[in-house]
Amino acid sequence: MRGPGVGPAFRVDWVRGLPVLRARVLEVSGFRHAFTTRHYPVRDHEVLHDLGFDPQRVVEAEQVHGGAVVLVDGTTGGRVSGADGLWTDRPGLVLRVRSADCLPVLVADPHTGRVAAVHAGWRGLSAGILSRLVQALCEAGSRPEDLRCAVGPSVGPCCYEVDEPVRRALRGWPGAFRPGRPGRWQLDLREVGRAQLLSAGVLPGHVGVCTACTACEPEWFYSYRREGRTGRLWALVSRT
Ligand SMILES: [Zn+2]
Repeated sequence: MRGPGVGPAFRVDWVRGLPVLRARVLEVSGFRHAFTTRHYPVRDHEVLHDLGFDPQRVVEAEQVHGGAVVLVDGTTGGRVSGADGLWTDRPGLVLRVRSADCLPVLVADPHTGRVAAVHAGWRGLSAGILSRLVQALCEAGSRPEDLRCAVGPSVGPCCYEVDEPVRRALRGWPGAFRPGRPGRWQLDLREVGRAQLLSAGVLPGHVGVCTACTACEPEWFYSYRREGRTGRLWALVSRT
C-alpha cells in the first residue's frame, strides 16, 4: 500500500499493524506523540497503550472553533469545555484534539517539557489561536525560539475553496490565498498556521508541516469537505 504524501517533515510509522504519522520535529526532541489516520479504531483503549499513552489520562478539548487556549493542570483525563487548544506542564497527561480537514497542531518545548495540542480551522486562526498559544506558553516562561511545532494532515489548497467572508476574516495572511472561480479563493490553511507561528517568534526550522491533503487521500484520512459526517483524526501528545 502506497503511503500518504506526508512530505519530508513527517513519516508513516506502524504500531502493531496500524499506521500513524510522526512529526520529525517532535521525534528528534523525544516527545511522545502521534497523528492518527483513517486506520484507527473508535474503541482505542488498547491502541493508546500501544502508542505509549495512559487511556485514563487523556484530556480533550470541546472544540468550538474559537480561539481559547486553556492550561490543563489536573492529573486525570477529561474534557475541557469552550477550548480549542490545551497545554500542560504535567508529565504523563495526554492532550488530544480531533480534526477532519482543520489543522491539528502539536507543540512541544524541549527546554521546559511543556506540550500543547490545538485544533485550528479558519475561525480559530482568525481568532489568532496559534499566536495565543505561543503567548500563553511564553507567559509561563517558554521562549518562542525553543518551541517545536507540528502541523498535521489537513485539507490542502487543492481542495479548499472559500468565499469572501473567509478571505476577509484572514486578510492578515494574503499569501495563503490563490484566486479561484469568480468570488472564490483556494485557501492554504497550513500556510496561515505556519505564518502565524512564525510571526509569534517560532523559528522556521522548528515548524514541520504535513503535506498530505485529507480530501485528496480518502484511503488515509477523513475529510469533512469530501464526506460531510465522518470520523475524526486524532493528534495526541504527552510530556514524558
Ligand atoms: Zn486536495
